[in-house]
Amino acid sequence: MTVTRPSDLDGALAGLAEGGALARAGGTDLTACVAEGVLPGGPVVDLTGVAGMSGTDRRDDGSVRVGALTTVTELAEGPLLAGSYPALARTARGLATPQVRGTATLGGNLLQRNRCWYLRNPAFDCHQSGGSSCPARTGDHLYGVVVDQGPCVAPHPSSLAAALAAYDASIEVAGRGSSRSVPVAELYDGTDPTRDHVLDPAEVVVSVALPAPVPGERGAYLRATGRSRAEWPLVEVVVRLACEDRGSGPVASAAVAVGGVARTPLRLPGVEDALAGSVPGGGLSPAVVAALEGLADLCSPLPGTRYKVALLSSTVRAGLLRALGAEEG
Ligand SMILES: Cc1cc2nc3c(=O)[nH]c(=O)nc-3n(C[C@H](O)[C@H](O)[C@H](O)COP(=O)(O)OP(=O)(O)OC[C@H]3O[C@@H](n4cnc5c(N)ncnc54)[C@H](O)[C@@H]3O)c2cc1C
Ligand code: SF4
Repeated sequence: MTVTRPSDLDGALAGLAEGGALARAGGTDLTACVAEGVLPGGPVVDLTGVAGMSGTDRRDDGSVRVGALTTVTELAEGPLLAGSYPALARTARGLATPQVRGTATLGGNLLQRNRCWYLRNPAFDCHQSGGSSCPARTGDHLYGVVVDQGPCVAPHPSSLAAALAAYDASIEVAGRGSSRSVPVAELYDGTDPTRDHVLDPAEVVVSVALPAPVPGERGAYLRATGRSRAEWPLVEVVVRLACEDRGSGPVASAAVAVGGVARTPLRLPGVEDALAGSVPGGGLSPAVVAALEGLADLCSPLPGTRYKVALLSSTVRAGLLRALGAEEG
């Protein structure tokens, strides 16, 4: 495997224009994907020395730009993000292991491949590996989707994508001679079974743009897992509550996003609307309880993922109570 280490974006884009070239940031997923045959072992363009892709800056309009090479640990612990975007920082703190978080980057997390064990086993062909079927749909899909959007049933793996969906963030993407901003809600297409995100392999995620922070925002992240460490979640929830009186008054607006549920991160508008007027420290209103019960109608479970219908509702419920500061003992 040949590896180049460009120092600027133009060099990286030139390297990626070579057929079969692969971008590498922290390498925590890319290395495994090449070893497991998910990705071809083409030339590698190491992005870690590319100028302009690191750091966190506040812009004049109050929005914040986070470089794609920012590590998950930096997202979790950086004072600007931890103070102003608590739901994002808590999500970063809750994923993977300390070792992975110290190496894995924001851009790589958003573009990591899904965890389907058929995809990662070279003995199987599927839509994602050039085949024309999904063996997981008819086979073992215990960790699969509970909201069935299309032929592929592997849930989206990126916890940070769920958090960024809750923040209405945009991804700044560069290609050769072009750049564009992609809302995180459009970075993934659940109906396309052939790929996990919509970017071209020759494009680079340069940074993520977060809207200006909300003073006193309350945030929570919660996951349900099959084991307590080193595991992707079965279901995860990210909650943001913009409350009056800088965080102590009633909820003025809410954003709730879930992962582990569908091919894309999903926002839950019914739950978000029902949260308006909820009081920090108080319990869940009848409207919120009804919205949680309504989540079952959103689900279209596979035979092996029926357990996720109840798990989705209970995980969101626990995440809301945590964000409201009203956790049940
Ligand atoms: C035990 C374990 C548990 C984990 N649990 C979780 C979890 O709960 N939640 C979660 O979200 N993740 C989890 N992960 C996955 C981990 O977070 C990802 O592997 C990591 O975030 C990928 O980042 P990276 O910088 O290492 O990416 P890389 O491995 O370098 O790259 C990943 C992909 O992104 C592409 N890429 C990387 N950066 C760019 C860029 N700037 N522009 C264009 N393409 C790029 C690469 O080509 C590759 O396809 C877990 C991993 C492990 C090992
Ligand atoms: S199409 Fe998706 S769910 Fe089906 S086997 Fe391939 S990666 Fe897995």
